[in-house]
Amino acid sequence: MHHSDICIAGAGIIGLSLALELHRRGLSVTVFDQAQPLGEASTAAAGMLAASDPDNPAPLRKLADLSLSLYFEFLDRLHAHSGIAVPFHTSQTLQSQISSSSDTLSREALGRILPQLTPRNHHFTLLDEHSLDPRNLAAAVLAAVRATTIDLQPNTKVLSTRSIDDSVEVHTTQGIFHAAKFVNCTGAWATHSTLAPSTTIAPRKGQMLAIAIPPTLSLPLVVRTHGMYIVPRTTGPNKGRAIIGATIEDAGFDKIVHPADIAHLRALAADLLPALADAPQLEVWAGLRPSTPDELPFLGPSPDHRNQFVSAGHYRNGILLAPATAHVMAQMISNQPTAIDLADYSPARVLTSSAIAH
Ligand SMILES: Cc1cc2nc3c(=O)[nH]c(=O)nc-3n(C[C@H](O)[C@H](O)[C@H](O)COP(=O)(O)OP(=O)(O)OC[C@H]3O[C@@H](n4cnc5c(N)ncnc54)[C@H](O)[C@@H]3O)c2cc1C
Repeated sequence: MHHSDICIAGAGIIGLSLALELHRRGLSVTVFDQAQPLGEASTAAAGMLAASDPDNPAPLRKLADLSLSLYFEFLDRLHAHSGIAVPFHTSQTLQSQISSSSDTLSREALGRILPQLTPRNHHFTLLDEHSLDPRNLAAAVLAAVRATTIDLQPNTKVLSTRSIDDSVEVHTTQGIFHAAKFVNCTGAWATHSTLAPSTTIAPRKGQMLAIAIPPTLSLPLVVRTHGMYIVPRTTGPNKGRAIIGATIEDAGFDKIVHPADIAHLRALAADLLPALADAPQLEVWAGLRPSTPDELPFLGPSPDHRNQFVSAGHYRNGILLAPATAHVMAQMISNQPTAIDLADYSPARVLTSSAIAH
């Protein structure tokens, strides 16, 4: 009989960061993914640690701040276990604000920071904010997991779960597993997989492109407006590219890339940085953000299923929030007090037992 302390469904950044944290605490962990680990949203992301994005809901801030406080240690641990360094690519972001404020940069100041920017009617502020390459992060996380005794089971879909006495029966396409506790980390699938105590996590599609930064443009920081961002890769194998994103669409599980949407993103970018207008296009892709109605993740025990937890719905910020999510979920699963109050993220906040799928 297969038995672990903890079974996790979903080997994205949320599931695997949690697996590493639980393993560090001495627990045996099995992680299932219906496809390949880190093959979905976690490698489609731009990689901004955008805790100060004005589009974030206010209650996200305390989880975001906790994550930022843990990030260096998280990356150091990954490096130690995987041998793969995950450097930050940028440490500042030019953020467009709806209206002018005391923090708004003057045209002269903007010109000094990014001479080739044509700000149009945007009001920009300068944020201290880092970005990294999520594909680099994914490689480090996967290598770190493989360096442990974490049992990673790709191509194994979790079909259903059942709480029985002090354990959970996990039914998968590869048979039945048993664990003391089960965590649903299936991202945009958390509802459709019939695992979550929720009907309220939905995929929200984001299309993106990568371009080669022209040699005439020096782009050392992120530029972000309400509808578009430009994120340069400044080191490593992808040095010299910039990611331009992203659409936000309710399109179910469709990941088709549409040239017209890509052209629109590119036009928005070129409007601010005309040097990008003719930059060679290197890649296009789409990913599925796990969105919730209030844009806050669900972190906590399943309201109706004993020993089952959910950690999903990180929407636009799962790369930012992974270290804090792993930290507080591991505390909760180990029956310890959590570093921050998680009431805002409780799976019970908008859920009713009638919405629970079995
Ligand atoms: C275009 C785009 C840009 C983004 N940019 C940023 C950014 O700049 N900064 C940031 O912080 N975040 C960003 N995000 C958000 C971030 O990518 C997500 O919040 C994060 O990746 C969610 O991680 P996850 O592990 O929950 O989901 P995923 O990475 O999607 O992983 C879920 C996993 O669950 C598996 N699964 C599903 N159902 C089952 C089942 N029944 N059984 C077993 N396995 C199952 C899937 O195969 C998948 O591997 C972006 C997202 C997109 C799409």
